[in-house]
Amino acid sequence: MRDKTKMIHGGISKDERTGAVSIPIYQVSTFEQESAGQHRGYEYSRTGNPTRHALERLIADLESGEDGFAFASGMAAITTVMMLMDAGDHILLTDDVYGGSYRLMSKVLNRFRLHHSFVDTSMPSEVEKAITKDTKALFIETPTNPLLKITDIEQMARIAKKHGLLLIVDNTFASPYWQRPLELGADIVLHSATKYIGGHSDVVAGLVVVKDSGIAEKLHFIQNSTGGILGPQDAWLLMRGMKTLALRMEAIENNSTRIADYLEEHPKVSAVHYPGLKSHPGHNTAKGQASGYGGMLSFDVGTEEAADRLISKLNYFTLAESLGAVESLVSVPAKMTHASIPAARRRELGITDGLIRLSVGIEDGDDLIEDLAQALE
Ligand SMILES: *Cc1c(COP(=O)(O)O)cnc(C)c1O
Repeated sequence: MRDKTKMIHGGISKDERTGAVSIPIYQVSTFEQESAGQHRGYEYSRTGNPTRHALERLIADLESGEDGFAFASGMAAITTVMMLMDAGDHILLTDDVYGGSYRLMSKVLNRFRLHHSFVDTSMPSEVEKAITKDTKALFIETPTNPLLKITDIEQMARIAKKHGLLLIVDNTFASPYWQRPLELGADIVLHSATKYIGGHSDVVAGLVVVKDSGIAEKLHFIQNSTGGILGPQDAWLLMRGMKTLALRMEAIENNSTRIADYLEEHPKVSAVHYPGLKSHPGHNTAKGQASGYGGMLSFDVGTEEAADRLISKLNYFTLAESLGAVESLVSVPAKMTHASIPAARRRELGITDGLIRLSVGIEDGDDLIEDLAQALE
């Protein structure tokens, strides 16, 4: 089955009993048992729910994995994956990981003696140097936010294998339509499905896919023990969104490519970060491991004042956090998503005060470019 067909026919795509072509929303907490301990596959909806199960089968198919798991948010998914570790273990993470992952590691899981350090995973030699005797996992994000840094997944898989580490990839920015880390050697792939997978800014959810049945069993045990599951209504909304994932990602990328090309030529823009541009340092790696470059890009207009002015003039880019939906969004990372990072550290990472981030939507590309043009004027 080819990718676009999988979005429609992958997983469990119909209700077997009635033939309904959309999976019913099983809004239920418990299931009748035939005799004590004898049930028909479902006993209690924290442990398993037919609507959530259909979604979990679908994401497993889309990510070429063995088993999938759906959670109440991307952070619930990441937390559950981290629970595979023991106190005293050490995890290496991409240095510009999502702010919520940074907070989870440095303010919550550290209290349980789960140790971590950050490393520039776009530099494989740095990664090898940072591994300690306690390191158990390598957690990477590619592309990253907001500079779209690219990490070579296959190279990370080689390092992980050599040192006996789990390779975990946050694939939120690429979506399974463009990039499938399990095919490149990763052990676990996860998503904030709030973003491209849901795609309509109407649901908060997280997904995890693994390829090893032993890890799957452990994750299901932790998911059932800690309980951060996705409800049936939201599971249904995600499946509805996923049917158009391919169409949305193609449209978003067409617009993004045009916008990146336009901004790169603009005299008031000093830098454009988009992996699809030949000038991007990760361009060749991105080209080798993903079939598309996605819809996130950032660019620099020099100063905080210039960024504020530009944003106040935009008509079709909504000023908001989050990303990956049908409508275009704009944000200023230094003052929004990355405001909690100290200014000096932001500068080190290259997140300047004049940096603007776009999440490109599926509007007419001409309108989006005209809008940026008049705002830059
Ligand atoms: C949004 C996001 C998360 C967290 O997901 P939530 O659904 O907001 O909990 C994790 N990783 C990345 C890359 C994200 O963009």
